[in-house]
Amino acid sequence: MAEDKTVAVLGTGIMGAAMARNLLSADMDVRVWNRSREKAEPLAQEGAVVAGNPRDAAQGANFILTMLADADVVEEAVGGDVLSALAEDGVWLQMSTVGEGGNERLAGLAADRGVAYVDAPVLGTKQPAEQGQLIVLASGPEEVRERSEQVFSAVGTKTVWLGEAGEGSRLKLVVNNWIVGLLGVLAETVAFAEATGVDPAKFLETIEGGPLGLPYAQIKGGMMIEEDFPTSFSANLARKDAALVLDSAIDHGLHMRIAEAVTARFDEAIQAGHGEQDMAAVYRVARPDRG
Ligand code: NAP
Repeated sequence: MAEDKTVAVLGTGIMGAAMARNLLSADMDVRVWNRSREKAEPLAQEGAVVAGNPRDAAQGANFILTMLADADVVEEAVGGDVLSALAEDGVWLQMSTVGEGGNERLAGLAADRGVAYVDAPVLGTKQPAEQGQLIVLASGPEEVRERSEQVFSAVGTKTVWLGEAGEGSRLKLVVNNWIVGLLGVLAETVAFAEATGVDPAKFLETIEGGPLGLPYAQIKGGMMIEEDFPTSFSANLARKDAALVLDSAIDHGLHMRIAEAVTARFDEAIQAGHGEQDMAAVYRVARPDRG
């Protein structure tokens, strides 16, 4: 649909800015809003319209795409009359990681405003976002799937369509439990290698290419060995996701001790001032001498 191509992107952080760029490359009309306007401004040179507030961004748009820190921030951004400002058949693509409870709250807000809502968190971090290689875990009404796909295919290589809104967020939590658990044990494994006099690079080299040698371990383990943590996914947001997993686990009657332990490690890293660094900086608190 030629006229169905105006997207209001709320949140131009690490992920949102990269996604907005890919929407521009796909010839969509993009409006962007960010709390700290200076992070949205560079997108103007690439053809985006920078809005001063979420309502101006949403006015008459076909899609509103939220890529903000958490459910509270999303709720605040789209509150008031923002959703009502969309075009008549406008669709809300909620792509931030908000967990089960957050998703329910936001879906309720959309229902109150009569706006179609697609729960669509993503897999992939800074570089895949920049390269348009995210995996979108989409769930929501059948009738808006085809239209939503033009946005998802611009930011990702694959959309996994699940059932009713909420299923995407649940799958995202399952994947995130896997990721944060891996990261926690990787940090302790690198620290353990060093403490016992084993070269941690030798550990990574030994597992590389085999069933134990995840590319993820090579990337994050390499950051730990180098002690260099440029942010692809911040420790603050990883901690937020670990807490979302624990909230859901409790709601479903599970006591997840490993997830609790990794969450506590992230708390330590954040208290030690590493919250804005990449989540791999959790290594620093696995090595008390480097904290
Ligand atoms: P980010 O770079 O830290 O950006 C966070 C965004 O939220 C920014 O736009 C920030 O605005 C905004 N924000 C935070 N607190 C706010 C507040 N109180 N009021 C208004 N705006 C606020 O994070 P990101 O990595 O792009 O992550 C965005 C979402 O994607 C999160 O839900 C995250 O869990 C999810 N995600 C991230 C990754 C990843 O690898 N990075 C992967 C998958 C999913 P300011 O610029 O003004 O601070």
